[in-house]
Amino acid sequence: MSSGANQQNRQRTFHELEHELYLREFEIQLLKETSEAVSSHLHLDQLFQLVVERARDLIQAETVLLPVIDRDCKQYTYAAGCGKNADEIVGESLPLEYGICGWVWRHNRPWWTGILDELEPEERNRWEQEAGTVIMVPLGGKKHFMGGISGINKIGADNFSKRDLDLLTLFASQVSIALEVAMNIEELEAAQKEAEKYQQELQILNKELQITNKELENLALYDHLTRLPNRKLVQDRLLQQVHTARREKLPFSVIMVDLDRFKEVNDTLGHHVGDELLKKVGMRFKHALRHMDTIGRLGGDEFALVLPNTNAEMACLVADKLLKTLDIPFDLESATCSVDASMGIAVFPYHGDDVPSLLRSADVAMYIAKRNQDGYFVYDTKKDKHTVHRLNLAADLHQALDKGELQLYYQPKLDLDSKMISGVEALMRWNHTERGFIPPDVFIPTMEQSGMIRRYTIWALDEAYRQRMEWQKAGYALSMSVNLSVYSLRDRQVLEYIQSLQEQWRPPPGALVMEVTESAVMGDLGYVSGILSELSSQGVQFSIDDFGTGYSSLSHLKRLPVNELKIDRSFVMEMDSDADDATIVRSTVDLAHNLGLRVVAEGVETAETLDALKDLGCNQAQGYFIARPSPPDELITSLESNGWTLCRTDDEAETVGCTRAAPGH
Ligand code: C2E
Ligand code: MG
Ligand code: MG
Repeated sequence: MSSGANQQNRQRTFHELEHELYLREFEIQLLKETSEAVSSHLHLDQLFQLVVERARDLIQAETVLLPVIDRDCKQYTYAAGCGKNADEIVGESLPLEYGICGWVWRHNRPWWTGILDELEPEERNRWEQEAGTVIMVPLGGKKHFMGGISGINKIGADNFSKRDLDLLTLFASQVSIALEVAMNIEELEAAQKEAEKYQQELQILNKELQITNKELENLALYDHLTRLPNRKLVQDRLLQQVHTARREKLPFSVIMVDLDRFKEVNDTLGHHVGDELLKKVGMRFKHALRHMDTIGRLGGDEFALVLPNTNAEMACLVADKLLKTLDIPFDLESATCSVDASMGIAVFPYHGDDVPSLLRSADVAMYIAKRNQDGYFVYDTKKDKHTVHRLNLAADLHQALDKGELQLYYQPKLDLDSKMISGVEALMRWNHTERGFIPPDVFIPTMEQSGMIRRYTIWALDEAYRQRMEWQKAGYALSMSVNLSVYSLRDRQVLEYIQSLQEQWRPPPGALVMEVTESAVMGDLGYVSGILSELSSQGVQFSIDDFGTGYSSLSHLKRLPVNELKIDRSFVMEMDSDADDATIVRSTVDLAHNLGLRVVAEGVETAETLDALKDLGCNQAQGYFIARPSPPDELITSLESNGWTLCRTDDEAETVGCTRAAPGH
C-alpha cells in the first residue's frame, strides 16, 4: 500500500471516528436533555409525546410508538406515536395476546432482530417477518409492567442494530420512572376527581336525607293541619316538664281545650271550613302564649297546653286570655264564624304528678267547664266522680260489640192511608253490663268523636239488611229505615258498603231508607247531591230526619234527590196543645207534598195526634202510641197482638202504597 493510500485510509478512519464521536455526543446530549425534560413535564400526554419523539431521534426509526397496557392486563393501547402513519395507529387498542407488545409482556424482554435465533421453531414463522423492522423495549415501572417503546423501520438501514437496542433500553429505563410517576399522578387525579364527585353526590344525598328526615319528623310529631305539635310531641314535652318541675320543685300547668259546638260548624259549613277554623284558632292561641309554652292539637277540636312555671292562678289568667282571643269572629274563606271553647286546668303536682294523671285531670276539668258553660275550670277532686264515667265511655264502647251489649231495636211506621204497618226504623241500643241502658244521644256522639262510627254503622247496616230479609222471608214486606250519621254520609267506605249490600240482598226499590239529618245534607250541596243520586240509582231512598230543627233551605231540598221528610218529634208531640206546633206540622206536610215528598211524623204519642195527622194528609206516623222500639223477635207478635195489620207481601205493599216511592221521584 502506498503512503498516499495509507494517508487516505487514515483520514477516512479519522472521519469515521469523528462521526462516531459526534453521534455519541449527540446521544449523550439527547439522553441528558430527555432526562431533564421528563423530570420537568408532569402532564402525561406531553410526556408521552416527548418520549416518542426523543426515542425516534435516538434510534433513527421511521415510526416510534408507545403502547401502554391497561390495569387489568387484558389489552394495550397506543398512547403516543410519531413518524410515518403514527396518527392512524395512536389511540388503537389491541388484545394483549396479539402483536409484539404481547410477546414483550409475556417474556418481559426486548424484541429485536437478534432475538430471532432464540425463538422456538413454531414461534419463528409467526414473528420473523417483522423481526427485522421492529424493535421494542419493555417499559417497566417500579411496581409493574407499563408497556413498551417500539421503533418501526430503521432509517437508512435494513434493521436496527444491537446498539439501537442498548440505547433504547437505556432510554426506556431513564424515562420509565417519570412515566410511572406521571401515570400514577394522573390516576390519582382521576381518582381524586371521582372522589370529589362522590363527595358532592354524597352531600346532595345527605341534604335530601336531612329534608326527608325533617319531613318524617314533622309527620311523626306535628299535626298536619295546624302544624302544631301533635299528641305524641305534647306528651313528650309534658314528660320533660314533669322531670324539670320535679327537679326544680316548681309547679306547672296543663290546659285541655275543647271547642264548643265545633261539630255544628263542621256539619253545617263543611269540613274544609272546620279545618280552616281549627288552623286559625291554633294560630291565635299560639300568638297569645309565651315562647316557652307548648300548644298542640290532640285531635279533632281538642288542643292541649303545657305552661312551665305556672300555678293555678296564672293558668286561669292564661285561660282568660285565650278565651278573649275567640271574642273576635274568624274571617274564613267562605264564611265568618264565631267559636267558643271550654278549658280544663290541671296543676303539677297538686292534680297529678305524672303525665297520664295530669292529662286525665285536665280532661275531667274540661268536661266540667263544658257542662257548666264556664269557659274554664280548675280541677277539683270533689267534682271528679261525676265526669269519670264519660271518659270511660269511649273505652267501653270499643268492647261493646264483642260483649254483645249493642243491639238494634225496631220501631214501626204506620201508613195512615191503609192503616197498615209499612216499615220500621232501626234504632241502636247499648245495654252496658255495669251501667245499664245508655241512650243513643249519648253514645252516638262518642262513636263519632272517637272514630268508631264507621265500624258501628257497618254493623248496623249489616243487621238491618239481614233483618229486613228475614221478615220478607216470613211474609212481611216492611221497609227498613237506617240512621246515617253525618260522618257516614261523607265516608266513602260506608257508602260503598251500602252499595255492596244492595247488590248482595237486592231488596225491592224503596225498601231501604237512609235517614240523614238536615244539617248533614247542608254544606257541600254538590257533593251530597252526588252521593244521594248514586245510591238512589240503586233503589236506596233518603229521608230528612228531625226536620224543622235545623235550617235547611227549600232551594237546597228541591235540588236533592230525597224521598221523605220526617217531622221532628218535638213539634208532633205538642201539636195537640200548641197551636204554633200544629201550624208548623201543617205547613211542613204541605211543603213536603209540594216538593213531591212523603211525610212521616215521629213522636206520635196519642190517638188524637194520629187523627190530626191523618186529617192533614200526613203519609206515615211513628211513635209510642203505635209502638215503642223493640227487639226484632218481639216486634211482630206484639204488633199483631195489639191489633195492627202488617204489610204482608210485596204485592200488597205496592197496592197499599207501603213502599211506594214519593210522587215525582
Ligand atoms: P231519630 O232518628 O230521630 O229517632 C227517633 C227517636 O225518637 C228515637 O230515639 C225514638 O225512640 C224516639 N221516639 C219515637 N217515638 C217517640 C215518641 O212517641 N215519643 C218520644 N218521646 N220519643 C219517641 P232514640 O232511639 O233514643 O234515638 C235517638 C237518636 O239517636 C235517633 O233519633 C238517631 O238520631 C240516633 N240514632 C239511633 N240509632 C242510630 C243509629 O243506628 N245510627 C245513627 N247514626 N244514629 C242513631
Ligand atoms: Mg231517625
Ligand atoms: Mg228523628
